[in-house]
Amino acid sequence: MPAVLRVALPVPLPSLFDYLPPASGEAGVGSRVLVPFGRHRLVGVVVAIDAETAVDGGRLKQALRLLDDDALLDAELMQTLAWAADYWLGAPGEAYANALPLALREPKPLPPIGDEYWSLTSAGHSAHDAGSRRGGSKALLALLSGGALSAQQLGERQPGWREAARRLAAAGLLERSERPPSVRPLALSRAPPLNDEQRQAVASVGASLGQYQPFMLDGVTGSGKTEVYLALIEQVLAQDKQALLLVPEIGLAPQTVRRLRERLGVGVEVLHSNLSEGDRARAWLRARAGSAQVILGTRSAVFTPLPRAGLIIVDEEHDGAYKQQEGFRYHARDLALVRARALGVPVLLGSGTPSLESLANVEAGRYRSLHLRARPGAVRPPMVQIIDMRAQHLEHGLSPALLAAVAETVARGEQALVFRNRRGYAPVLLCHACGWHAGCPRCERPLTLHAGRRQLICHHCDYCQRLPSTCPTCGAGELKAQGQGTERLEEALLAQFPQVPVLRVDRETTRRRDAFEDMLATLKDDQPAILVGTQMLAKGHDLPNLTLVAIVGVDEGLHSIDFRAGERLAQLVVQVAGRAGRARKPGRVLLQTHQPEHPLLRCLLAQGYAAAARELLAERRLIRLPPYSHQVLLRAEATQREQVEAFLAAAHAALPPGAPIEVAGPMPAPMPLRAGRQRGQLLLESASRQALHAMLRPWQLALGALPAARKVRWSLDVDPIDL
Ligand code: ADP
Ligand code: ZN
Ligand code: ZN
Repeated sequence: MPAVLRVALPVPLPSLFDYLPPASGEAGVGSRVLVPFGRHRLVGVVVAIDAETAVDGGRLKQALRLLDDDALLDAELMQTLAWAADYWLGAPGEAYANALPLALREPKPLPPIGDEYWSLTSAGHSAHDAGSRRGGSKALLALLSGGALSAQQLGERQPGWREAARRLAAAGLLERSERPPSVRPLALSRAPPLNDEQRQAVASVGASLGQYQPFMLDGVTGSGKTEVYLALIEQVLAQDKQALLLVPEIGLAPQTVRRLRERLGVGVEVLHSNLSEGDRARAWLRARAGSAQVILGTRSAVFTPLPRAGLIIVDEEHDGAYKQQEGFRYHARDLALVRARALGVPVLLGSGTPSLESLANVEAGRYRSLHLRARPGAVRPPMVQIIDMRAQHLEHGLSPALLAAVAETVARGEQALVFRNRRGYAPVLLCHACGWHAGCPRCERPLTLHAGRRQLICHHCDYCQRLPSTCPTCGAGELKAQGQGTERLEEALLAQFPQVPVLRVDRETTRRRDAFEDMLATLKDDQPAILVGTQMLAKGHDLPNLTLVAIVGVDEGLHSIDFRAGERLAQLVVQVAGRAGRARKPGRVLLQTHQPEHPLLRCLLAQGYAAAARELLAERRLIRLPPYSHQVLLRAEATQREQVEAFLAAAHAALPPGAPIEVAGPMPAPMPLRAGRQRGQLLLESASRQALHAMLRPWQLALGALPAARKVRWSLDVDPIDL
C-alpha cells in the first residue's frame, strides 16, 4: 500500500499538501522533505503519513528528497505547532516557517553544531604585525593575535565583528573552525542571599518542577525577579534539564546576557532578531541536541526545541512585543503556556505590571500568584506626586514645579529623567496665519517635525519631506511647532541647565546597535545628569544616581479610544517610575497632567498598579471586553475605499447565521488611511471561545473564496492587542 506524505509548505494556503514518499529514505513525521511545487522546489515538513489521499492518484507528485533521517521536530513541537496554527488561524506551513530558523528551511544538510572559532592565519599574523589594516579590521586582528576566540567571545568584545571577519577571511587573513560545544566553565559570580519573598517564590516553583503549573511572579523592576529566575534555573540545571527564558526585545540588553552567563556558568544560548541566520540555526540545533541548557530569547525563541525541558519563564509578560503583528499572529506568552502544559513543566510569568489577561487567570485560580514587595537594594519605594499643569506657565511644555525639581536634583549632584513617549521636536507644525498644518499625504495624519534633521517625518509610514521655510499655502514666514517631542525637551533642558550633561535616548539617537547601553555607560554614578527620552528609558541598566523621574505628556493616553489604553498607560507610568531610587538614595516621581482628577491616575498614584488593574478589570467585566470576552479582528486594506467596503460587507454576509457572536462593523480602521492604503475592519466578539473558534476556520475558507477578496489584502487576528 503506497503511503502518502502530508506536508506543510511555507505558503500562505490553509492546507497541507500530499506527496508520494521520495525514492530513497524512510520519511517520518517531523522530517523535512524537498518537494516540487508549481515551478519551484520547496522545503516542507512531514506532518502526517496517511494511507490515502484525496488527490487523484495519477496527479500525485513524488517528494524529491528526504532531508532528515531523524525527525527534526519532535512530537511535542509538532503537536504544539499544529495547535498554534489552528488557534491563530495560520496556514499550517506558516507556523513551521516561524518555528524553523531560516537556515533550516533550505534544502541543505544540518550545519555542524560545535562552537564557532576564529583565528589568524600566518598571513593574518603578518598583517597584524605590519599594522596594515584600519578600524574594525585592525581591532579584530588585534583581538585574535593572542589566539583563537569563539564567536560568542568576539560578540562580547567587538560588536559588529562579523563584517570585519568576512572581509578578513576573504583576504585570507582569518580562518574559521568548529570545536565541540564548550563544557561547563566555572561560575564567576555568586548569588546574593535571597530575601524571604524570593525564597518563597523559588520554593513554590521549585516544588512544581516536573509538572505543569503556571505561576505569576508579581514584582516591580528591581524587586529581584531575575534573582528568582536564576535560582530556579540553577535547580533545573542541577537536574540536568533545560530552561527557556523569554524576554521582550527591549529587555535583551547585553547586561542581562552577561549576568546570566556569569552566574550560571553554562553556555547560555541567545536567540534574537539580530543574530546571523547561521548562529540562530546552530543555537536552535544545540537546544534540540540538549547541549544548550539555558536558552534566552525573544518572541520566536518560544519555538525552541526542548527535549529535556525543565522550566519556561516569560519575563515582562505584559509586553506587547510578545504578540507577532503580521503574518502568523501568535502570542509567545500564550504559546509558552501551551508548551509548558505539553512538556509537563512549570511556567513562570514575571512582571511588575501584569497584563489584565494574566490577572484574570490568577483571579480564576488558573495561575498561582507570587509576590515580591520589598525592593532589595532600595531604601523605600519612590514617592509619586501629580503636578497640575492647568493655568501654569509652561517652558516648552515643562511646568515651573517640574523644572524646580530637576534643578534641585542636579544641584545635589544626582540625576533626573524626563520621560516623554514621543520622539522628534514637535508632533505638529502649523501656520499661525492661515491654519495650515503639515500632514502626511499618505496617512492624513500630522507630520512630526525633526528640527535637527530639518525634516518632517510621518511616524506611521516613514514618509519624509524637507522642512519648508514658509507656509506652502499662504506663504507666511513663521511656522509654529506645536507640542513637544524628546528633541524639543532636550533643547529646553539644555538651555535651562547649561552646566549639566543632557542625554537624549530615543529611536533616533540609538540607531546603532548597543548605542543605548553605550550612552548609559557614559553616565558617572557620582555626577549629575539629565536624561530625556521615550519608553526605551523604561528599561536598561541600573542608574544608582537617578533619583527623579518626571513624566510628561500622559494625557494622550487618557483620551485614547483603544480600550487597552488605560492598562498600557498604567503599565508605562509604573515602569518608568520604577527607575527612580534604585540604590540607596530615595526617589521621587512627578507626573505632569492637565487631568489631576482622572480616576485612573488617582487610583494608580494613591493605591498602586494592583488596585488600578482591579478597577480596569472590573470595568472590562462590566462591558464584556477581553479578558471577559474573546475577539477576532478581520482587517482589510486596498487602494480604493469601495473595495474595502465591498469585501467587508461580503465577509459580514458570509458569517454563519445564528452563531453566538457579536459583530461590530464593517467600520474604518482607527487609521482609515495608512501609507496610501484605505483600511477597514470587522470585529467579532463572543463570550464563548469555543463558539467563536468553531466558526472561524470555515469562515476563513469562505473569505478566501469571495470574489471581493481578490481586490484587498486581508488578515484575521485572533485575540488582537490593538484594534
Ligand atoms: P528585577 O529582575 O525584578 O528587575 P533584579 O533581580 O535584577 O530585579 O534585582 C535588582 C537588583 O537587586 C540587582 O542588582 C540584584 O543583584 C539585586 N538583588 C536582587 N535580590 C537581591 C538580594 N536578595 N540581596 C541583595 N541584592 C539583591
Ligand atoms: Zn499659512
Ligand atoms: Zn504617513
